This record gives sequence, structure tokens and C-alpha cells, in this order.
Amino acid sequence: MTTYQNYINGTWVDSHSGQTISITNPANWNEPVGFVQKSDQNDVSSAVQAAKQANSTWGQLSPIARGAYLEKTARILEERIVDIATTATQEMGKTLVETTGEMGRAIAILKYYAQEGWRKTGDVIPSSEEKNLLYTTRVPLGVVSVITPWNFPIAIPIWKIAPALVFGNTVVFKPAEETSITGIKLVQAFHDAGLPAGVINIVTGKGAEIGPEMVQNPSVNGITFTGSNGVGKGIAMEALSRGCKYQLEMGGKNPAIVLADADLDHAATLVVSGAMKHTGQKCTATSRVIIEASVYKQVKEKILEKVKQIQVGNGLDEDTYMGPVVSSKQQKNVLNMIEKGISEGATLLYGGKILTGDQFDQGYFIEPTLFEDVTNDMSIAQEEIFGPVLCLIKVDSLEDAIQVANDSSYGLSASLFTRDLAKTLQFTQQMEAGLIKVNGESAGVELQAPFGGMKSSSSHSREQGQAAVEFFTSIKTITITP
Ligand code: NAD
Repeated sequence: MTTYQNYINGTWVDSHSGQTISITNPANWNEPVGFVQKSDQNDVSSAVQAAKQANSTWGQLSPIARGAYLEKTARILEERIVDIATTATQEMGKTLVETTGEMGRAIAILKYYAQEGWRKTGDVIPSSEEKNLLYTTRVPLGVVSVITPWNFPIAIPIWKIAPALVFGNTVVFKPAEETSITGIKLVQAFHDAGLPAGVINIVTGKGAEIGPEMVQNPSVNGITFTGSNGVGKGIAMEALSRGCKYQLEMGGKNPAIVLADADLDHAATLVVSGAMKHTGQKCTATSRVIIEASVYKQVKEKILEKVKQIQVGNGLDEDTYMGPVVSSKQQKNVLNMIEKGISEGATLLYGGKILTGDQFDQGYFIEPTLFEDVTNDMSIAQEEIFGPVLCLIKVDSLEDAIQVANDSSYGLSASLFTRDLAKTLQFTQQMEAGLIKVNGESAGVELQAPFGGMKSSSSHSREQGQAAVEFFTSIKTITITP
């Protein structure tokens, strides 16, 4: 069994603690995937120091040259799609189709940001003084801490690391503990692409033990975080207290509204895939389906029929549609929310239990679950479940649907199924969410477009596409009087 090391200042090294963490497959907890370093804060400070040292040289390199490293990393990852996708499936359980898709996404993101290196990085602005030259230029932040969750262990790190690097920052990356090996394999690709020492560093370990140093170290100039609201809030407080730039993408409680005039088959298909793919462990997963009363029964039956057909199993098996949840802790959280749903008066329409039988007994499997008679005061309508659970809610009109959809502290993604243009426009104007879809899954958006939430889902900056330049750089406004 391989023991993986941290990567600091261009070298693979053991942690100061001398301890390791074992990673096992959530589809079969007897199957080890490997060991990673259980780092301590000394490891993080070494990584930050290395990133700081590398910063001035890297920051002065032409962005076109920095982009060339990303292009080379993309080509290396293309050769390793099967290996890294398999590792991600073994570490966190989702299907090989899903992790392979994530690899494709990560490679496309690297190629996209390689090209961003060719774009202009400032503007010349007219000056009211005749001879003055007034212009802006963008400069890197410096050292950026990249803190990521386990649910998209390939694409999320890359959509933070790629813009951080091309815009001239150096990186200390801490993947979620559960998916550390996937993170290490991504960093190996940057190493093999010849990235100079210290430009990217990875430190693995427990978030609560090493996360604070990633946030508090005074040499860290920017923190980009995706994860839970609880951890995100703590990061925001720390970063604010020392004037460090931060970016947070957090939870969601995403609605899909189905109106009577919609293509109901299409709507049911996308509601089910939005809710159940990735085992519902997506910030943008559909977790509430709000259905117009006149078609409620029809839509419910279509959804139920599709959910009954879901093949649950080991993510490595070809016919698996839905893998296990990531961990015992996650399984308990989801089952606890299902219990709450039942005790608060919702009707359990389907699923709700741990799966049993030979193929499931050593894994963290949960049946795809449907609730109906859900009202907005219930915990299952308000709290993020982050598992394969979908709540059906009946309403009388689009106005009621939007009111129910917006009655949430979250505002990440939302979708509407309709053929009516006026209703489409009303929804896009009134829905409080950063990502809006019409006749599409609530989950996902193309990589060249801004990604992020409103309300408590986000710190309101945007990731992906050209929006990323806003977080990863600062603007200098320069006036030259000759
Ligand atoms: P988490 O908050 O537990 O962990 C996220 C990361 O933070 C991990 O790397 C973890 O080790 C680290 N961490 C933990 N404690 C820390 C601390 N005190 N200081 C610094 N870092 C610390 O989240 P998770 O369980 O890995 O992921 C699930 C959550 O992520 C869900 O709420 C989901 O909605 C959210 N998510 C959001 C998006 C988005 O783009 N909005 C995308 C994916 C996941």
C-alpha cells in the first residue's frame, strides 16, 4: 500500500508529525486506497514559506509563459485520466463516469486558463490632464491558500489552482482529507510539467488541525475555500480580522420548479439526475422539487418511476448509477435528516434506509429517497442534506413556487421547467440564486461562465471563466505625469 507524501518546495516530504492517515473506499471500507501524511501546522508554515519565496520570480514571469505550464499539465492529465478518475472513485465513492467527467472538465479548465494568460490585464483611461498617462494593471495577490471539499476532488481544486497560477500567484493546496490522494496526483502532474519549486505545494491532513494555519499565516495573501457554511464563516472572520482577501463557495438548498405547461418527462428526468447523480453530494444538487398542483400527481409518478430504476452500487461497476456516500459520518448525517423529515410530518414516499445485502454491507450506501407533503418550516426543506434525498412540494402557481423557492437562507442554483416565455422572465428576475437554469438541471454550469451563489451560499465573488481574475488579482491604478 502506497504512503503518499506532502509536496513542499518542489520535493516530496514526510510530515513533521511522523503520522499518517489511512484512506479507505466508502463502497467497501475493508479496501484500503493508501496512506497520506497527517500534517501539522509546521508543515503548512513550511509550504507557505516555500510559496512566498517562489512568489516574486513566478509573479514576474509573463502570463503567457505561466499559461504554457498549465497547457503542459493538461496534456499530462490527459494521459492519466483513468488512473486519477479511478482513485477519486475509490476515495469518495461516486461513479467512474462521474469522476472521468470531472477529469475532462479539469483538463478543459487548464487549457482555458492557459489561454487567459494571453489576455490584456489592464486599461488605459482618459486623463483630464493633457499629458498624463492614466492606466490600470493587474497584479497577483501573492500566496494563495486553496482549501477544497471532497465532493468534486478533481475539478474544484483545478478551477482554483489554474487561475491562481496563471495570474501569478503561488499556491498552498489542502485537499479534503477524504480525497487527499486524488489531490496529490493532481499536484504530481504540475510537478511533472516542470513547475518551478515552491509555485505549488500540497499539505494533507485534518482540516481542523491544519486549516487554521492555512488561514492565519500572515504570509498568506488570499484564501479560496469551497466547503460547508460552518467552516466558511470561521475563515471569513479570520481573514477579515487581518485584511486578507477571501472567497467562499458553500452550501445550497436548490429548488427545481415544474409548471403545468412544461415537458413533464424532460422535467422529471432532469430533476432526478439533478438530485441523485453524485449521490446527491453536490452543492448545486436539486433538493426541492416544487410542482404546480394540476400536474403534481403526474410529475410525482414520473419521478418515482425513475428513482425506482436507480442502480446503486460500487462506483467502479459499469452499471452503477449512484455510488455510496463518502463516509460513515456523512451516512449518519443523511439518515439523521431522513429521521427528522419523518418526525416533522413529511411522508416518506420511497427509500429512506441503509441498503443491505452482500454488495452493500461493507459500504456507506443509502437508498435514493423521496419525501412528499413537505412544508417549508421542516428541516428537510431548509437544511442542506448533501445526500440522495429529494423533497416534493405542491404549490398553486408560479408566484407561490418562487415564494417557496426563495424562502431559504441559501441561494446557489435554481431551475424552472416551462414553455412560457413570460413565466421564464418572471422566474429569472425574481429567483434569488447565483445560477439559474430554465429547462435544465439545477446542477452545473459551463466552465467559461461565472460560478457562485447568493445569500449564505457564497461570499459573492465568482469562480470560473473570466470572473476568476477579480479574485486572484488586485488592480493598480497608475498615473504618470511626464
Ligand atoms: P468542509 O467544510 O467540512 O471541508 C471543506 C474543506 O475545509 C476541507 O478541505 C476541510 O479539511 C477544510 N477544513 C475543515 N475545517 C477547517 C478549518 N477549521 N479551517 C480551514 N479549513 C478547514 O466541507 P466538506 O464536507 O468537505 O464539503 C461539503 C460542503 O461543501 C457542502 O456544504 C457543500 O455544499 C459544499 N460545497 C460547495 C460548493 C460550491 O461551489 N458552492 C461545491 C462543492 C461543495
